[in-house]
Amino acid sequence: MELKVLDKGFVRLVEVFGDDFSAVQAARVSYGKGFTTPERDKRLIYYLMEHGHHSPFEHIVLKFHLKLPIFVMRQLVRHRIASINERSGRYTEFKEDWYIPERIRTPDSQNKQGSVASNDVKLNNDAIDLIEESIENSFAAYNKLLGMGIARELARIVLPTAMYTECYWTINARSLMNFLSLRADSHAQWEMQQYALTIAKIFKKCCPLTYKAFLKYGYTGDLLKLEER
Ligand SMILES: Cc1cc2nc3c(=O)[nH]c(=O)nc-3n(C[C@H](O)[C@H](O)[C@H](O)COP(=O)(O)OP(=O)(O)OC[C@H]3O[C@@H](n4cnc5c(N)ncnc54)[C@H](O)[C@@H]3O)c2cc1C
Repeated sequence: MELKVLDKGFVRLVEVFGDDFSAVQAARVSYGKGFTTPERDKRLIYYLMEHGHHSPFEHIVLKFHLKLPIFVMRQLVRHRIASINERSGRYTEFKEDWYIPERIRTPDSQNKQGSVASNDVKLNNDAIDLIEESIENSFAAYNKLLGMGIARELARIVLPTAMYTECYWTINARSLMNFLSLRADSHAQWEMQQYALTIAKIFKKCCPLTYKAFLKYGYTGDLLKLEER
């Protein structure tokens, strides 16, 4: 499953270990039991979520391949309970591949951490032109440095955080739910929100009962609840 994000990014589910019932199975080991009936299993998932018994959800693990701008990647790596391997800018050359926002945003007066899309067409065009020009100049300098025989690891220091990078990101469902509470939320940066909302769609498909119980009892963000309405 691969879903497009932003102008050139994506979220691709590489593999999943477990499903809704992996958490049930793990929780029931406490009583020396496994599965019972689907209805009781479902009730147990809701019970675990409602009472904050989140460790059984660590037995569901999702591995993603992500393509994302470096500034989003910097926020992703703050989520320590996950495993990451990122493409190396020392071993590979950066291509002409960067993020340009479709619409610019100005600070949100209601939400200190947020921003709002601007309707000012001139401001939009001027800002996008400036962003494009600045990135193109940086990329030209990068290529020039490479042409001068400078090592990739040093030449890359002139590149902006709008450059796309790629990583493999493996995370268990418990940590993923924490990630969604924090990043599928209006206080997160809009670009990060887009990745979190896409990842939430995939999580919902893989673990529909866990997802529902999470939204009901575990989720502390706002955007996923707005989407469900
Ligand atoms: C809107 C927003 C704004 C942010 N702004 C900033 C900012 O300005 N500057 C900045 O530096 N960061 C910022 N962050 C990042 C934030 O502080 C967290 O680092 C990030 O969201 C990861 O959350 P986490 O620690 O819960 O996740 P994880 O690192 O995945 O940890 C998951 C959980 O494990 C436990 N845990 C993990 N490591 C430890 C530990 N060392 N000790 C104890 N318990 C641990 C905690 O319970 C934690 O919630 C921001 C995040 C958001 C969502």
